[in-house]
Amino acid sequence: MKNHVDPGAADIPFGPADAPWQSSFSDLSLITEIPDVTAPSSEPRQTYDAVTETPYGRFQLPAGGLTADQYTAAENLFRSWLEQRCRISAGFQINADLDYQQRLSPYLGLTLNNAGDPYQTGAYTHNSKILERAVLDYFASLWNVKWPHRRDDPDSYWGYSLTMGASEGNLYGLWNAREYLSGRLMLLSPQGSAEPAPATGPNGAGGPGSNGYHPVLFFSQDTHYSLTKATRLLGIDTFQDVGRRWFPDENPLAPGTPWPAEVPSVGGADGDGMIDIDRLAVLVQFFASRGFPIVVSLNYGSSFKGAYDDVEAASRKVHEICANHGLDERPVHRGHGRSGTFDLRTGYWVHVDGALGAGYVSYLEMARRAGLVEATPPIFDFRLPTVHSITMSGHKWLGAPWPCGIFMTRTRFQMIPPRESEYIGSSDTTLAGSRNGFSPLLMWDHLARHSYDEQTRWAAECDRMAAYAHSSLRALEKELDLDLWVARSPFSLTIRFRRPAAWLVQKYSLSYETTYADGRRRTYAHLYTMRHVTRDLIDELVRDLRLPDAFVAGDFVAQA
Ligand SMILES: *Cc1c(COP(=O)(O)O)cnc(C)c1O
Repeated sequence: MKNHVDPGAADIPFGPADAPWQSSFSDLSLITEIPDVTAPSSEPRQTYDAVTETPYGRFQLPAGGLTADQYTAAENLFRSWLEQRCRISAGFQINADLDYQQRLSPYLGLTLNNAGDPYQTGAYTHNSKILERAVLDYFASLWNVKWPHRRDDPDSYWGYSLTMGASEGNLYGLWNAREYLSGRLMLLSPQGSAEPAPATGPNGAGGPGSNGYHPVLFFSQDTHYSLTKATRLLGIDTFQDVGRRWFPDENPLAPGTPWPAEVPSVGGADGDGMIDIDRLAVLVQFFASRGFPIVVSLNYGSSFKGAYDDVEAASRKVHEICANHGLDERPVHRGHGRSGTFDLRTGYWVHVDGALGAGYVSYLEMARRAGLVEATPPIFDFRLPTVHSITMSGHKWLGAPWPCGIFMTRTRFQMIPPRESEYIGSSDTTLAGSRNGFSPLLMWDHLARHSYDEQTRWAAECDRMAAYAHSSLRALEKELDLDLWVARSPFSLTIRFRRPAAWLVQKYSLSYETTYADGRRRTYAHLYTMRHVTRDLIDELVRDLRLPDAFVAGDFVAQA
């Protein structure tokens, strides 16, 4: 059908030339009339948020593309805007001190794709799996799990380089946990037919025992939103889902009150953000005693408060409770028991979301040993036999120009992929199809050029900078005689404080979060002292916070 240009759309100025959208077709010679493409239905420049100070029109893409001059102007504007944004970005746990460009730019002319299992070279030979394995071995060593990966050694690690960041690692970790606990076939299982066990509730056939293949998920109120999303995507039940459905009046934390969505953190919304292990234990006890296998996701560096859950104490507790209810090591039978084949599995899974912390705290621990810092958070890694999987974002501590990361587990916990993929010539053991092959190259480049010594010095320095930012903001609070709610959770690289006015939030890319406690509403902002955040930048922020328009006056009345 011939394209129809809405008469209203005809006047909409479009692209760097500010010419009506359809007039950009007149520069073309092969295509002489407007092809079957759709005109704008309203003015895009007024539809979107302003991102740069530059009008959106400079970046719009007409049918003929941009002229060389238009391109240069637009690209320069975008780049200088981005450079400025990166320089003064203090609100996210993203290291912006990057130096890959000189060495790695030639790779933009080469195709890299790590589709399939990292340890099988596969048919797509232009991959970076050789570097990926080196990066994974590095983290296996750092996180104290047996390496190298060997498919025939259940104690060795298995992992892969993520195409997304830790959100993908969380999704994969929960998928792995669900498959494992619901009795699906594992990679190292004795041969037999896959026999997905039925997930039933207390009223299902077989009585309470039938809960045994119905995993129930726990995470704290300080958990990243990717966990909730993964839960929905995977259809995993949280303790709230199962509690509401089958035990509506039995919330063991406060009988007669509704089930909470998340495990409370110590001190609630105003606390430091660590999971409340006592309450976790009460909840886990409730479900484990009814036979449900348990999945716990712990935070090692929560996003907003930078809080470190005590992975050691929490996972020990979970293990103890599960052991009391036969959920420590249990035989999972296949073929309805007829074949007699079974494997032994834990009835619980502990996943560690270490988006920032898993990359950072290992070095902070080295800094403590070297006498550079005094203390570190409790350990989180595979030294704990109770830990099943760990994920980390590559763009946070290491620093990368795009999201990337690592997922790691033990080979004994690997599940059989839903289907073998002959097409790529390697097992489809990862989440994505095509996998980013540039990210392992970046992480390899970074780790090859920065020794433990250097990482350790950086870790100690970032910790010192957090202490400096904390004391500067506390001093400001005194000086202004205002309650700015300045707080730093133990060992955290983030300092939170009362959200300032919008222009400051913009200027420093501060992220913010609203909490509700005791019927009171508080909106906090925070800054992260990542490697690129200098004393000067902190001083500049503190100077700005002193200005009369730094805070919205009404906030103090409304929120004091
Ligand atoms: C950043 C973060 C994530 C998500 O990681 P991405 O790399 O952004 O996908 C998950 N959990 C925590 C605690 C985080 O801080």
